[in-house]
Order: sequence, then C-alpha cells, then structure tokens
Amino acid sequence: MQSDLRIPLVDVRAQNEAIRGDLDGALKSVIDKGAFILGPAVEQFETKFARYVGVKYCVGVQSGTAALHLALLALGIKSGDEVLTAPSSFFATAEAIALCGAKPRFCDVNATTLNIEPSKIEAAITPMTKAIVPVHLYGQASDMNPIVAIAKRHNLLIIEDAAQAHGTTYRGQRVGSIGDAGCFSFYPGKNLGAFGEGGCVTTNDAALAARIRLLRDHGSPEKYRHILVGFNYRMEGIQGAVLNVKLAHLDRWNEKRRALAKRYREMLQDKPGIRMLQEKDYGQHVYHLFVVEVENRKKVFESFAAHGIAQAIHYPTPLHLCEAFCDLPYSAGSFPIVEQASKRILSLPLYPELTETHQDEVVEALTAVRR
Ligand SMILES: *Cc1c(COP(=O)(O)O)cnc(C)c1O
Repeated sequence: MQSDLRIPLVDVRAQNEAIRGDLDGALKSVIDKGAFILGPAVEQFETKFARYVGVKYCVGVQSGTAALHLALLALGIKSGDEVLTAPSSFFATAEAIALCGAKPRFCDVNATTLNIEPSKIEAAITPMTKAIVPVHLYGQASDMNPIVAIAKRHNLLIIEDAAQAHGTTYRGQRVGSIGDAGCFSFYPGKNLGAFGEGGCVTTNDAALAARIRLLRDHGSPEKYRHILVGFNYRMEGIQGAVLNVKLAHLDRWNEKRRALAKRYREMLQDKPGIRMLQEKDYGQHVYHLFVVEVENRKKVFESFAAHGIAQAIHYPTPLHLCEAFCDLPYSAGSFPIVEQASKRILSLPLYPELTETHQDEVVEALTAVRR
C-alpha cells in the first residue's frame, strides 16, 4: 500500500472528512432501519443516479464487475459469442465477457486517447460478434458516434464501460445513456466511490432493467420464489446511503479535477520527454486519471519515490497479453499502439483535494528527470 505517501494517487480520507457529518448521518439511518441489503437508500440512489445519467432505469449491484457481467448476460451474451472491447482497460472489462462464456476480442486504440479506435473496429468483427464494450478510459468518452454507426450496421449491442466516467459527457449526453446499457463502478477510488464495493447498470430498456434486477438477487421476484438461476450481486444499503450523500458533490469534485488537469497541462506542455494524452472537444473529460507518457519511466519513478509521490500505471499489461487470456489468438505485436503506450504511461496524482503546492512538486519531480 502507498497510503502513507506524502502525495498519494487518490486521497479518499480527505474527501470523506469534508462531508463527514452527512456521511455519519447516512450511515446512522441505515443502522437505525437495519436495511443492510438493497432497501430504501439503494432505491433512492437508483432514482437519483438514473436522473443524473439521463436514463429511465438504474439498477444498483455489488460492483462494477457485477454490473458488466449482468448487463452482458441480460442482453443475451453467451457461449459461442464474441464481444469486442479495447485492450487498454482494467481486467474486469474482458473478464465479464469471459464470465458469460463468450470470447473477448480486441482491436487497437487511438494513440491520442488510448480509447478504442473506431476505424479499427470493423476489421475485428466476425459472424460471432454480438456486442461492443467501449470503455470511457481515464474519464474521457470513447468516440461514440462512429461506434454507434458501426453497431447499427452490424446489428451489435453496445454496453458502455463507464466505471471511470461518472459525469463524463459525449456531445452533450452523459455516458451510460448512449448504448443499450451503461456500467458504473463505485469502488472507493473512483470519481464517485462507496464505502466498499458497489456498481450499477443504467439503461432506458425496462425489460432489461427488470432482468438485471432478477439476476442480481437469485432470480427472485419475491421472497423464496426463484424464476431463474442468478447471483448474489445486490448492492448494500450502506453503499446506497453513502452514494446518495456523495452524488450531490460529484459535479463540483469533477470540476476540481478538471481545473487541476488544466494546470497539469499548462505546466507540462512542451516539456521534453513528456507526452500528454489529448482532451477531445466532443465532450467533457472528468479526469478519473491524468495519464502521461514518458521516455524513461523507471527514472521518473525513482524521482517520485525520492519525493514521496505515488507510482501508478493504468495499466501495465494490455488485456490481450494477460496470462488469463493466453488461449486467445493474440501475442506481443498484435496491437502495437496499446503495447507501446503501456511501456510509457504513468498516472499522476489527481483528486479534488490535491493542493496546488503538491501538484507543483509532482511536476518538479517529473521534469527534473534527466534523459
Ligand atoms: C474499476 C473498473 C472496473 C471494475 O469495477 P469494480 O467495481 O472494481 O468491480 C471495470 N472497468 C473499468 C474500466 C474500471 O476502471
């Protein structure tokens, strides 16, 4: 753990302290009611988050991984199917596809954003392909218009992985409202984080939302009646209560992230050996992570260690090269852009409570490295 670092990657304690009274009150009400699994706080959160994202339905589940698993399953993804996604994501994106018995398929990414490259999607589609999972990586939307057009042309479903993109917009629309389903994670370090595991699926499809509600709770529409084999993927009452409090602050926190990111951009532009990813003008980036590419990552990390600054890489191994997927038809060299980037990227500390003084120190530690 790097939690005792002077400048951590994220600081959830600082965030919680600022709203401690409201959080304590929310927890107390769950304890008083004894509503620990689903219950009124979760229902209230589902209603509020659906409105926030701009969809009709939100179903609270146990994690972002559970959200992806249930969305894919409830949309009919099964053994023999292929689902296309970006190799530049967290393992869970591809894992959820495999959990349905389907095969994850990948195509290379856009070098300026590391999101899936729409122009490379069609070559990866086969007769078995049933869906695309665009990941809104680091808080920036994938370029959805061309993806939606390709999906229409090939009759594919779209399941958005919005685990890093709470509040992100694409051409005026919040992500999670564009595809057939949107999947969010409320892991504590995400832009909207719970006090433990949490996630949700957003959709405008009433039948899909109903299926996911059944699947998250042992296929049970009422106590001891089970009409399908499902899972225990329910959201906890405490998580719903915490998320209700935090959702009211999300836009303000995202604005702070955006302001700090702008400052990083101003300080790092034209610095030799440092390349920033692009912020596209097609939507609002919420900067879950601020990622840069450097020429000598090892030296940068030595400098960070000397300054007590967190070292993080999202992600060191592209998904097609993960050992768990060694049976898929990929190897080193399959996707050169993501493979090159994975050797050079690192994530700079960025969270709403990061001070400008600490941010200046990060820039100093980064730019002081001799190449
Ligand atoms: C965090 C994350 C997940 C998984 O969410 P959990 O809540 O940790 O299960 C999936 N996809 C992406 C892109 C993530 O960042």
